[in-house]
Amino acid sequence: MRALTPHDVLALWDEGAHRHPLDRSALLCARARSDLPADTIVDLPLGEVTRSVLRLREATFGGRIDSHVDCPFCGARLAVSVMTSEVLPGDAAAQVVDAAHGLRPPTLRDLAAVADVPDAEDGARRLLQRCMTASAPASLLDADLAEIEALFEALDPNADVGLQVICTECGKPVLATLDATVVLWDEIEAQGKALLRMVHVLAVAYGWTESETLALSPVRRAAYMAMVSP
Ligand SMILES: [Zn+2]
Repeated sequence: MRALTPHDVLALWDEGAHRHPLDRSALLCARARSDLPADTIVDLPLGEVTRSVLRLREATFGGRIDSHVDCPFCGARLAVSVMTSEVLPGDAAAQVVDAAHGLRPPTLRDLAAVADVPDAEDGARRLLQRCMTASAPASLLDADLAEIEALFEALDPNADVGLQVICTECGKPVLATLDATVVLWDEIEAQGKALLRMVHVLAVAYGWTESETLALSPVRRAAYMAMVSP
């Protein structure tokens, strides 16, 4: 996986800033999976999208993910720090079709198709319906929300990245879920802003163009920044 360059970070920030979160996932995954035709990204199992986006983040910003989750029991904000290798223990692909239930794993295209359904259970059932193959029993549609979520989790375990933390305030176990796109996008936004600030400061000081500043190595950019605004 090739790391994003400063040019790549700014280009992705430009392109993704006003996109729907699902389109942003497709954008980041397409960048991570330049080995695949761009129009096939929306038909990848969600676990593969998650894995690809987290691998791109790891290559560019390192393996450590710092995030936070709000405790649902007492409201305390808990810091979560985890390595990519811990949340993605293996590179096992999703099952193509779950033979027992006749289900295929959902994709970004499927999520987009049900994104406007206001009721969570209704949305999950429509998603299930989309993912049922010809061999799926019709009785599957009687499943409730928890059962549907369990079916999808078993089918494609990496689609949602979750880890359990213990609340430091009330001591209860809290499930923190990480959205790979949000995790990478936060870094892109933060680095994009930092890069533009450096471009601005160095343009005022030395008259350099954006391209000239972005072409500098990180060490040289930091050294010039320290001279201009110690
Ligand atoms: Zn708590």
